This record gives sequence, structure tokens and C-alpha cells, in this order.
Amino acid sequence: MRVLRSAAEFRQACDDARAQVGSLGLVPTMGALHEGHLALVREAQRHAGRVAVTIFVNPTQFGPKEDFTRYPRALERDVALCGAAGAELVFAPPVEEMYPPGDATRVRVTGLTEHLCGASRPHHFEGVTTVVTKLFAVAGPCVAVFGRKDYQQWKVIERMVRDLLLPVRVVGHPIVREADGLALSSRNVYLTADERARALALPRALSRAAARFVAGERRVGELLPSVRRELEGAALTIDYARFSDVETLTPFAEDAILPERALLALAVFAGSTRLIDNLVVGEEPAPLPDEA
Ligand code: AMP
Repeated sequence: MRVLRSAAEFRQACDDARAQVGSLGLVPTMGALHEGHLALVREAQRHAGRVAVTIFVNPTQFGPKEDFTRYPRALERDVALCGAAGAELVFAPPVEEMYPPGDATRVRVTGLTEHLCGASRPHHFEGVTTVVTKLFAVAGPCVAVFGRKDYQQWKVIERMVRDLLLPVRVVGHPIVREADGLALSSRNVYLTADERARALALPRALSRAAARFVAGERRVGELLPSVRRELEGAALTIDYARFSDVETLTPFAEDAILPERALLALAVFAGSTRLIDNLVVGEEPAPLPDEA
């Protein structure tokens, strides 16, 4: 396992990996790794001969009132977990390496970024696409694995890779959940025991909506109010709860009839912690099949 701090060293290590084993897998993260991240590492191994994990808490994707400074950081533990999962390279640059003094360049994807999280976190995706472009520029040709937990991020990066002709194949991996259905997230450590229990309304709401969808209910106006009631009943504050097109992410209106597949995307606050979850109804199994 090699831990690299500078872009030049990481670029060389990626070039060496391609020369030695023919392909590189890349898993961009912000660290505080959990089983969800490690599943991405294992997925990357299925596509490439060597896997690099990047660990960088990216300041430009946090809003001024968000949790950049208190975001959990655990580099030593993360490096050990990456090694155990089979990654051979970790790139953990300091902020100045990713944003050289005087930095004045941003990458912005339009359209897709206006909906869902883009509406409530104005500069978030610009920060994400900027840093991921830099990571791709340093890593070079690779298979990059992203979690469908951040469904919109995955779609935005796919779009960016196509638009900028980047030599990257983007793979989306299903959401990894705790046994009780809660989606794994580095932010779950912020939750009190009570908030964590209430957060289970997320997978429950997704599962109940999925069951009704499978039973034939296609009316947004019938499905969404129950989702909202489920979340509000657990005293979660809804940021958004929407059915959206799986590719464009455009939300369906309250009076719309859903097509064969649709993204049900949720964002809530449990106390001060923002949690997201989603399910593509008509495609993915419900997180809690017994909730039907
Ligand atoms: P983060 O460190 O939160 O920026 O996440 C890094 C990558 O891990 C992103 O592609 C996330 O979508 C993915 N990820 C985070 N949590 C999960 C999860 N529970 N299941 C699958 N992927 C995840």
C-alpha cells in the first residue's frame, strides 16, 4: 500500500499501474470510510488490475454553513481499511495541492445540477465536478466507481465525462445499507441514538412506495403524500421528496403518472444532520422488503 500526497507522485503511480497491470480503478471519497466505500473498492477491482482510493475532504463542495470543518477525518484507519479491501494506492492530498494558490477555475455541469440536491446546495455540484475533474486529470485513464447513494452526483459525473471527452469509464454501485436498512454514510456518526432510529423512516418510506408502485400505483399524487407523511411522522424535516426522471433528474409534477422506472429521491434533516437516500422504483429491490 502506498500513500501519496502530491499530484505528481500520484500521477506517476497511476502511470506505473497502467504500465504494469494494464488498467486502473479509481474510487474518489472524502474518507471516514465505511462498508459502502469498501464495496466500491471491491467493485473497482472487478474492472481493473490495480485500485487507487482518493481521500480528500473537498472544501469547495461545502456551503458556508455546512460541516466542512467538523467532517470526520480518520486517515490512518482509512488507509488500513483500503489495504484490507485490496486497494494498492491512496491519494490523500493537502488542500493546497488540489487548489494551488490563486486557483480560479471551476467546472460546471448545467441542467442536471439544478434539481434535487442542486436546488438546496447551490455550489455543491460545481465543487464536486471541479475536484473530480482534477482527480481524473491526475489519475489518467481509469474506471471510476461512484455510489448510487449519491445518485445525482453519479449522473452529473457521467454527463461531465461524456461532455469533456475524459478517458474515464464511470460505474455506479448500488447503495450499501446497515442490516436495518439505513444507508451507510460518513455523516451517520453525527446522529444521536434517537435520530438514528428516526432516520429509518427513509428506507421505510422508499420501501412502502416501492411496494405500492409494484402493485400498480403510478400516480405521483398518491405516492408522494404517503412518503412525506412517513418522514414527517418520524419528525424528520424534509428538504425534498421527489420522483424524478432517472436520466435527466427532472422532477415529475404532482399530477404526473410515472413511467416504468423512476427515481424516488429523498433528503431530510434529522436534527442538524442532512441525510439522503433514494431508490429507482421499477428497477431496484426495496431496501426493506418486509415493509410492503
Ligand atoms: P463520500 O466519501 O461520502 O464522498 O462518498 C464517496 C463515494 O462513496 C461516493 O461515490 C458515494 O456515493 C459512495 N458511497 C457513500 N456511501 C455509500 C453507500 N452507503 N453505498 C454505496 N456507495 C456509497
